[in-house]
Amino acid sequence: MDLSEKAQIIYQRLIDGYGEPIWQPGQDPLDELILTILSANTNDVNSGRAFEQLKTAFSDDWDAIRTAPLEAIKTAIRPAGMYNQKAPNIVAVLERIQREQGQYDLSHLAAMSVDEAFTYLTSFPGVGHKTASIVLLFCFNRGAFPVDTHVQRISQRLGISDRRAPPIKIKAIWEELLPPENFYALHINLIRHGRQTCQARAPRCELCVLQAYCDYYQEQGEWSVT
Ligand code: SF4
Repeated sequence: MDLSEKAQIIYQRLIDGYGEPIWQPGQDPLDELILTILSANTNDVNSGRAFEQLKTAFSDDWDAIRTAPLEAIKTAIRPAGMYNQKAPNIVAVLERIQREQGQYDLSHLAAMSVDEAFTYLTSFPGVGHKTASIVLLFCFNRGAFPVDTHVQRISQRLGISDRRAPPIKIKAIWEELLPPENFYALHINLIRHGRQTCQARAPRCELCVLQAYCDYYQEQGEWSVT
């Protein structure tokens, strides 16, 4: 079986096991960008709380956040951690968007190619490939595949990538193997799979719908936990 066929089987088995997540329009790209900046090195609960506190503290007003004292922003986003880096990055993002677009709006990304939009987003401080891909996929359903720690670990174990492949390499592999219209469902289902079954320290292989296609399972005992 070649890798492309394996990827398609994995995609379908995850849908059979977890359902088919359907992309929905309506997520604001600037909200998503700031939320994802806040999510670096923390969990969804903490980043979500920081985002809500930020919006509440400044009455949902990006201009008020851009012009606020940095210490006030740090206080609002404290639950997300790394607030000394995240606060100035958020201000820099808002300053540049306001300067370039004349408003706090990223809807112009829809008119760019995926590569152009990806390059644009990753030119902001604190925005890496995962954050840029999340904004493009979740807000525009564009063909950028986000690789977080769950996607990285499962892709390595399955043998979609090699065992030590970095996230950016895994992103490129999935984007080559499957069509963009599969990215949203695949991303959501890999996260579900990572949380429910293919957990970092103790994968529940006996329950796994991907068992027959998994290098880690076939070679158990030869792997160190990643
Ligand atoms: S068989 Fe085990 S290691 Fe492989 S994907 Fe399933 S849970 Fe993860």
